[in-house]
Amino acid sequence: MHVFEHVPQRHGAELPAATRTRSFVEVRRGYDGAQDATSEAARCFSCGVCNSCDRCVEHCPEGILRRDADGYHFDYDYCKGCGVCATECPRSVVFMAEL
Ligand code: SF4
Ligand code: SF4
Repeated sequence: MHVFEHVPQRHGAELPAATRTRSFVEVRRGYDGAQDATSEAARCFSCGVCNSCDRCVEHCPEGILRRDADGYHFDYDYCKGCGVCATECPRSVVFMAEL
């Protein structure tokens, strides 16, 4: 979480409680314009989706993670299994598993 900018959640407009009890009108009115919706969407962590931030490559103490046009490559012959890449990946794309 320390790598993300903390931005407060935006809440869409809602009908006041007194009005809700006297009508069947939709309570949640949604965001007020595209700017609110875009701002809220920008808070998405994109969990599980690599956005090519290169943190895993930069933090691997062995320097065996490589990025090229086909994506990221681990050289398992030299990986010592420290798990730093998994810890540093802010989107949980990298994880440790027994082979
Ligand atoms: S487990 Fe450690 S050595 Fe292996 S790729 Fe990740 S950071 Fe590098
Ligand atoms: S696997 Fe994770 S740390 Fe590596 S580039 Fe993708 S998002 Fe960043």
